Amino acid sequence: MSLDSKTIQELKEKLLQEKMRVEEELNRIAKPTTNNGDFSTNFSEIGTDEDDNASEVEEYTDNLALETALEKQLKEILEALEKIETNSYGTCEDCGKDISIDRLRAYPAAKTCINC
Ligand SMILES: [Zn+2]
Repeated sequence: MSLDSKTIQELKEKLLQEKMRVEEELNRIAKPTTNNGDFSTNFSEIGTDEDDNASEVEEYTDNLALETALEKQLKEILEALEKIETNSYGTCEDCGKDISIDRLRAYPAAKTCINC
């Protein structure tokens, strides 16, 4: 891997910031489960009449979609951080070539190079 330690450090900090942001958002709409990195969407009790029930379901559905997207992001971030620890960060999972630094700077959790 051609990344120097300064660049790795910079990208790691970005990933950690991103991780905090995603976790914060997840905690707003979901509760962490015993599984590491897994969350379950909150189902809030707004009220008991029909309109309230409809908004509850609507809110739950929106949150569920958001939660799924955030969990996916979090998983990618955790994987990227693990790769930094095992010195396999920055290599494309598809073709095995180095991912460009520009791409990593724009998207530090990238798993594949721009061609893949
Ligand atoms: Zn590739």
